[in-house]
Parts: sequence; structure tokens; C-alpha cells
Amino acid sequence: MTKIRPRKQFGQHWLRSDRALQRILAAADLSVEDTVLEIGPGRGVLTRSLLDRVKSLLAIEIDRDLYSFLQSEFSGKNNLRLVQGDFLGLELEKLLTEEAGIPPNKVVANIPYNITGPILEKLLGTIAQPNPKPFELIVLLVQKEVADRLAAQPNSSAYGGLSVRVQYLAQCELICTVPAGAFYPPPKVDSAVIRLRPYHPPTGATHPAFLDQLVRMGFATRRKMLRNNLKSVVERDRLSELLQQLDLNPQARAEDLSLSQWINLSNLLEAERSPEQLDRLGY
Ligand code: SAH
Repeated sequence: MTKIRPRKQFGQHWLRSDRALQRILAAADLSVEDTVLEIGPGRGVLTRSLLDRVKSLLAIEIDRDLYSFLQSEFSGKNNLRLVQGDFLGLELEKLLTEEAGIPPNKVVANIPYNITGPILEKLLGTIAQPNPKPFELIVLLVQKEVADRLAAQPNSSAYGGLSVRVQYLAQCELICTVPAGAFYPPPKVDSAVIRLRPYHPPTGATHPAFLDQLVRMGFATRRKMLRNNLKSVVERDRLSELLQQLDLNPQARAEDLSLSQWINLSNLLEAERSPEQLDRLGY
């Protein structure tokens, strides 16, 4: 096999644990009808297993050397469509319809950790603009710390703006932890497999863009009380009343509110905003 050294700049850590691989495959609940998107196939460890189980696979690899390697490695596989490029720079809609033939219904990948946030946003969209064609299932190997944040519930140290924003868009499950030694070279941190089931479509907020903004403002300074954080949107006393209405302490902080409390608060506030306020917030 061609010797290709892992490149740090592309976040390259090859998965070498069969146990972790099996957990990923099981979490993806694959069938021969599935069409899958893989981001960062690397040396093709996951790619190979996917190709044996699914109808077709679209794999995007940024590294030209790996791309050439994968091309020859899988030259006999006719259900693989390999694309060389930066996943973040590619136009998703075009990529999925033109390159894949049938647009992928699932994403299964061990992604480069340095761009986890942007990858999630590209796959799920944002609260304000959810992906209009959500995937059925997304299984990713990510940094453990990120996995904890995605699955976190209120009043835990991992719970933050990312938890609320992603949980609005998808059901998030932490499948298992994967130790650093499961990779070559081992990353500095442990990893975890997560499974996301995007909602079709996400629901609850009467004005999703407002909820998006509110959550960002609320968590901007997470130790501050919401009535201080949100004072440009609502008077402190009025917010205290609304928080009480939602069974919350008037001194609540962003991290005290569950997703449904965020949605309720956003809807209540949105209903009583004046046209000038709407204007100021840019909606
Ligand atoms: N899936 C492989 C490799 C994981 S390492 C395995 O499990 O062993 C992450 C992979 O993502 C590397 O192959 C890296 O080259 C690739 N990559 C990094 N940035 C990328 C980007 N922006 N677009 C596509 N692939 C990228």
C-alpha cells in the first residue's frame, strides 16, 4: 500500500479500531437502499465497509494524494463516486443532485475535527435557515467534548448555544466514546460517535430567525442573567414576568432554559414586539 503520511493541516487521523468502525456502521443502520455521503474518506477504512453495504457512496476528500490513492484503491467499485475538493466550499445542493445521481439520504463520516462546526451547519443549516432537504440520518465521529455539547441537557457544564441550536434541528444521540488510541496518529482528545436525526422540518418557533438570534444573545455571556443579556430585546421587568410564566426563576441564565423553554420564550417575546423593534433586529 502506498505510504501516505497523515497531514495535520487536514485533521488527518486514521481510524484503526475495528470496534469503533462496527459501532459507526451499526449506528447508521445501513441498508442496500441507502445512498450515503462521506466527508473525508482518508485512506478509506470506513469507505470500504460502506461500499459493501449500501447502494451508492459519494465521498469528498480534500487531499489530492489521498484522492489518487482512493481512486486506485477502489477502482473496481462501481458504487463509489469520489470527488476531490473542500466539502465546505462545495455547493451542497448541486453536489448531491449532480454528483451522486440519487441524492444521499444518510451521512456517515469520521470528519476532520477542526471544521466540525461548519460541517454541522452545512449539513443541518441553522435555526433561521434549516437545510430544506434534510438528511434522514447523520452519523459522525467527532471530538468527545463536541459530542457532549450536542447531546447536553440544561444545567450541565456541556450545555450551551450549540446544544440548543443543533437540538432544534435534529434529535441528537451520543452512541459511544472512542478513545484516542483508536486512531493513528492518536488525537490529543477522546472522540465519540454521535447520531443526528434531522426533523423534517424543525418546528416550534413562530419566527425561527428570532429564536436563532435570541439563543445567540442569551449564550453570548453565559454567566450573566438573561434579563441583562437580553435587555436590548425586552425590558428587564417584563422578562422577569415572562420567565416566571415559564416556571423559571426571574434570575435565570441561558443555561437554565431547556429547548422548549427557549422556544416558548421566543414565541412570547416575538408576539409582543413592536414594529420598530422588529426593524432594529433586522427582520
Ligand atoms: N475517514 C478517515 C479519515 C479521517 S481524517 C478515517 O476514518 O480513517 C479526516 C479526513 O478528512 C482526512 O482524510 C482529510 O484529508 C479530510 N478532510 C479534511 N478537511 C476536509 C475538507 N474540507 N473537505 C473534505 N475532506 C477533508
